[in-house]
Amino acid sequence: MSELRKDLVKNNWVSVAEHRALKPNDFPIAKKALESSVIGGFCPFCEGNEQFTPPEIASYRENSEPDTKGWLVRAIPNKFSAFELDGQLEENRHGIFCNYNGLGKHEVIIETPEHNIDFHQLSAERMEMILKILRDRYNDLAADERIKYIQIYKNRGIFAGASLEHSHSQIVALPLVPAENQGVIDYYNANQRCLLCDILAQERSDERLVAESAEFILLCPYAPRFPYETWIIPKKHSEHFGSITAAEMQDLAKIIKKFSNVMVESLGDPSYNLVINTAPVNVAYQPGYHWYIEVTPRLLVNAAVEIASGIYINPVAPELAAAMLREAMASKQ
Ligand SMILES: [Zn+2]
Ligand SMILES: [Zn+2]
Repeated sequence: MSELRKDLVKNNWVSVAEHRALKPNDFPIAKKALESSVIGGFCPFCEGNEQFTPPEIASYRENSEPDTKGWLVRAIPNKFSAFELDGQLEENRHGIFCNYNGLGKHEVIIETPEHNIDFHQLSAERMEMILKILRDRYNDLAADERIKYIQIYKNRGIFAGASLEHSHSQIVALPLVPAENQGVIDYYNANQRCLLCDILAQERSDERLVAESAEFILLCPYAPRFPYETWIIPKKHSEHFGSITAAEMQDLAKIIKKFSNVMVESLGDPSYNLVINTAPVNVAYQPGYHWYIEVTPRLLVNAAVEIASGIYINPVAPELAAAMLREAMASKQ
């Protein structure tokens, strides 16, 4: 028997198979997770190919000039950006339709100069450096009044939408606030409480807990859209990813390294997405946001029912997913 569970953040329903536990090997697409294309074997993100990317916005490097070798982490504009930070937001109407100009910014963070190092193989120090450059880019983009929401995300593997296999993450700065996480606002308005803080209070000792560190809680959410979906939530209430502290970055880097290794080892090297949910910027203050990370292994391809109804069918109960991930996390140094 399955249950329809309410996802309070997305204000949507998820069908969860309560007792059925598909093993990672039961998902056929995991095995082909990393067949991303590199056109003609050439990779513009590799060290030495700096002239093939747009000029860098920021980098961590050891005594070398911008756009030359010698960097550790590099932020560049996305060459194929759908957005441009130029002028003001304009609304255009076409009868019953409406559009805005593509005001915004799309950036890429290249996480290592080396092509053959996968994200989970990076050192905790490098992951901390990646978090720092993401925080700095977030705060820099947030300083522009025209930007209303900053989405940080990572696609790993072809089923997660990665087109280049060289380890990287991306930032899209948007001129409007997506409606996706409206549930946190609705929850605050109804209860005068932060939804994520209430989730932490309820789940801390629950069967969906995966791990706890000094600054973060890892858990499988009550109504996960994807098998083995896991959230990484800062214990301290904080609205913006941009206000992450040095201690939190150090702790988070270690947690992400450990969890990404567990995921790769336990789930058959899957494609996955990692996204940061955070509060909007430069808009009238709305209480209820609490930034956190969603990690979604992509063991299934979205099918007709998800497209048509928005209701995800998840064949792995989060209680069973959490038990497996919790054991794997506990046995890993
Ligand atoms: Zn490369
Ligand atoms: Zn909170």
